[in-house]
Amino acid sequence: MSALRDLGQRQHEALGVFRSSEEARLLTRLAQTECLLELAKLPSMRVDLASYAGMVVGVVTQFVPSRSCLVALDVRDIPPIETRYGSADDEVAHAARHALVVDGELAGELAVVPEAAELATAEFLRAVAEQVSSGLGILVESERLRRRAARDQTIRLVEVLADVPRVEDLRTLVEALALLPHALGARLDVAHSTIGPGVSLVAGMAPSEAPELVEISGGAVGVSIRWSSGAGTSEREDLARIVETIEDAFVKAEERRRLRADAETDVLTGIGNRRRAVHVLSDALRLAATGEECVGLVYLDLDQFKKVNDTLGHDVGDQVLVAFASHLVATVRAGDVVARLGGEEFVVVCPGLTEQAGVALAGRIVDATARACAHVLPDGWDQTTSAGLAVYPLAAGDPDALLRAADRALYAAKNGGRNRCCVAEHLVPDGHASPRRWR
Ligand code: GH3
Ligand code: MG
Ligand code: MG
Repeated sequence: MSALRDLGQRQHEALGVFRSSEEARLLTRLAQTECLLELAKLPSMRVDLASYAGMVVGVVTQFVPSRSCLVALDVRDIPPIETRYGSADDEVAHAARHALVVDGELAGELAVVPEAAELATAEFLRAVAEQVSSGLGILVESERLRRRAARDQTIRLVEVLADVPRVEDLRTLVEALALLPHALGARLDVAHSTIGPGVSLVAGMAPSEAPELVEISGGAVGVSIRWSSGAGTSEREDLARIVETIEDAFVKAEERRRLRADAETDVLTGIGNRRRAVHVLSDALRLAATGEECVGLVYLDLDQFKKVNDTLGHDVGDQVLVAFASHLVATVRAGDVVARLGGEEFVVVCPGLTEQAGVALAGRIVDATARACAHVLPDGWDQTTSAGLAVYPLAAGDPDALLRAADRALYAAKNGGRNRCCVAEHLVPDGHASPRRWR
């Protein structure tokens, strides 16, 4: 209200000047009135303090032709902010400074060097400083709330990290770190098995030094903050606690990953087990559904394997299983997953594999099995395998049905004389499929 009263007073004075025909002074007064009106509008834009300071400089220099203008803020709990127009440091240094006040405390200053002395009287600049102060009162409170929310969000995000970390979470975390009280910017470097190759994320003003990486189980992590000069021990303690929680989260995620990997590994051959096969197949089909991709599933069963055990002993049987697993791993592409379902039954899950490419792959596996197992078997003993191929979405639309379709194709390959691959029949409208091609 007092600002409006002031404006009324100024307009009244301006009219007085008009009546006395002092045109130049009148125009100046009108411009100054408009300047104050514009400044009064800024706080309703709910901008952050740095933007507000920039806008104040913009408005003042628009209405008061100036050689230089400075708005410097140093508000409790908030990093100092300085915005200036013009580069004449000396001039600003010698200009009259007007205090900016928030809650009765000195919160900064305003200095303007106008082009001509009469363009901005000391009285007008005091009025500007008062107007800016009243705007600051509103914005400082919302900036404090914003920063408190950022700190809470950082803690929450770190708790989210206790689940498996994702790069998107990390990005939001760095943005929240950059808003911590007294922070000007933040950087987080992580190289960890749970998120793949290393990521380096920066928000706000990049800290001048790279984070010191702390080695943790499964990788390394480092956080650095660019502080304003106002940062105190409590901020540093906060950050130390946050960094510790981030490290803990990664250690836990790595532990979970390791337990899961152990639970999904076949002890004899070191490849995946049935649990891994089911998990990978489900993931692959879910991904394929969104990208309209194929997924190939090759189901393999060693031929007459009982004879190996019965004739050469169980140990040799085990060696054949290991040799066959290595053969599968060596034959498939990097993104394919090989698993042993149990006994002498294996599967290969191949994202993106078309039926034509699947037939070729199964053929390579079948054809080279005897050679791959020869070094653990007596001369002349040709170990063979049979294979069933089922391709999503041609043969089935879900993991269980795809496994059953591949198993039926394998059964057909056995019936057809073994040492061959058979392809699962494509789905027909009633959803039933039967094997169709022999090689
Ligand atoms: P087919 O060509 O019809 O598949 O004949 P097969 O003899 O391979 O099939 P069958 O199911 O009759 O025999 C599988 C054999 O695999 C029986 C079992 O002793 C053996 N086996 C299962 N698990 C293991 C294992 O971990 N190690 C060894 N050495 N043998 C195993
Ligand atoms: Mg068998
Ligand atoms: Mg079998």
